[in-house]
Amino acid sequence: MNCEILSVGTELLLGNTINTDAASLSDMLAGLGINVFWHSVVGDNPGRLAESVAIARSRADLIITTGGLGPTYDDLTKTVLAESFGLPLVLHQEEVAGLKCWFSTHDRPFTENNLQQAYLPEGCTVFHNDWGTAPGCAFEKDGVRVIMLPGPPSECLPMFRHCAVPYLKTLSEETIVSHQIRVFGMGESAVEARLRDKMEKMRNPTLATYAKQGDVMLRVTAKAPSHEEAEAMCQPVIQAVKAELGQVVYGVDVESLEALVLSLMTERSLTLSAAESLTGGLIGAKFTALPGASAVFRGGAVTYCDECKAAMLHIDPALIAAHGAVSYETAEAMAKGVRAATGSDLAVSATGLAGPDGDGVNPVGTVFVGLATAERVWVRKLHLGAGRDRVRLLAANNAYDMLRRYLTGLPVLMEKG
Ligand code: ATP
Repeated sequence: MNCEILSVGTELLLGNTINTDAASLSDMLAGLGINVFWHSVVGDNPGRLAESVAIARSRADLIITTGGLGPTYDDLTKTVLAESFGLPLVLHQEEVAGLKCWFSTHDRPFTENNLQQAYLPEGCTVFHNDWGTAPGCAFEKDGVRVIMLPGPPSECLPMFRHCAVPYLKTLSEETIVSHQIRVFGMGESAVEARLRDKMEKMRNPTLATYAKQGDVMLRVTAKAPSHEEAEAMCQPVIQAVKAELGQVVYGVDVESLEALVLSLMTERSLTLSAAESLTGGLIGAKFTALPGASAVFRGGAVTYCDECKAAMLHIDPALIAAHGAVSYETAEAMAKGVRAATGSDLAVSATGLAGPDGDGVNPVGTVFVGLATAERVWVRKLHLGAGRDRVRLLAANNAYDMLRRYLTGLPVLMEKG
C-alpha cells in the first residue's frame, strides 16, 4: 500500500506550527510496512485542498489527512474530501451524543457549530475521539482508502494508534512485525556500507537504516500470514546484524541508551551521579526524563567554570592548571569527585569544547567523558566535530554508552577502527 499524508492547515504553511503529525505518522506507518511516498501540506482553502486531493488520489492507495476536522469555519477537510469522493455527509447520532456528553462533563456550553463535527461521509468507519472532540473516520472509494484524523498531535497520534492501526490491520491478510535495532558508535554511512549487500537483496523481511539524533536505527520488517511466522523471519536478520556490527549494537526495541542504562542499573540496584561541564546538566536531564530514574540517579553537579570544579568536586586547582579543564585528568577527577560527593556506585563526567571556538590547545569538539566505579576510572577522548547542540548531545550519549558497556561486560573504551 502506497500512502500520501495530506496535512491541512494554514498554520503549517506559515511556519507557525511544525508538521510533527506527518513525521510521527510516517514513522508508525513504516513500522506497519506501509510505504509513505508523499507528504503534502495545504492551507485551509477548499479549492486548493480539492486540487491536492485529486493529485493524491491519482497516485496513492491510501490518503491520510490531518487537521481541519474541528467545528470552526476553516475546518473543511471532511466537506472537501466527501465532495471529492462523491459521498454525502450524514449526521451520526452516536457522535452527537458523545459530543454533548463531552461538553457537559467539561462544563462547557454546547454550541450548534459543534454539530458539524458529527457529520461524516456516508458509510465510513467512525473513529471516536477519546482524546478530544472531533471524530475521525475511514472510508474506501474506487480503490482508494482515506483516513481522516484531527490535527492536534495529542489527538492525532493516539487516534492513529488506537483506531487507524486496527483498521489498517483488518485490510491485510498478512501480519507485519517490525523491530528496531539500535546502534551507537558507528555512523549511518558506515553501518550501511557494512550491510549494503544484505539490504539490497532483501525483499521480505526488509532492512533499512535511519539516522536518529546521536545514534543509528535499523528497522527489520517482515510480512507473513501469522505473527509467529513474521517474528521468526525477523530473528535471523537481527542476529546477522548483531554479528556483523558487534558491540556497537546496544539493543533491540529499546527506547534510548539512557533507558537501557536505567533498566540495567535498576536490575542491579546500582546508583548513578554525573559531573557535567559542557553538557550543562544534559546527562542528568536525559536520565531524569525517564520514569523510575529516582531509584538510580542520586544527583549531579554542573561545574562549568574551573573554580566550581575545584570547589564542588574537590578537585585540586593545580591539577586543572597543569592539564587544563579539557583533559583526561580533569574528566577523571570530576567523575571521582562526584562519586565521592554523592556516594553513588557509578559516576560519569563530561568536559570539553562545544564550540564555536576551541581553547587554543584543543580544537572545537574535543571532549573527555569519564566513568568512575569503586575500583577504577576510564576516560574516553572524543573528537566530535562542530555544532554546539550536536557535540553536547554526543558527549551525553557517550557517557551512557560507557555505562552500557561497563554494565554489559564489554570493554568500556571502544577499540579503534
Ligand atoms: P480541532 O478540533 O482542534 O480544531 P482540527 O482537526 O480541526 O482539530 P486544526 O484546527 O487543523 O485541527 O489544528 C488544530 C491545532 O493542531 C493547530 O493549531 C496546531 O497547533 C495543531 N496541528 C494541526 N496540524 C498539525 C500537524 N500536522 N502537526 C502538528 N500539529 C498540528
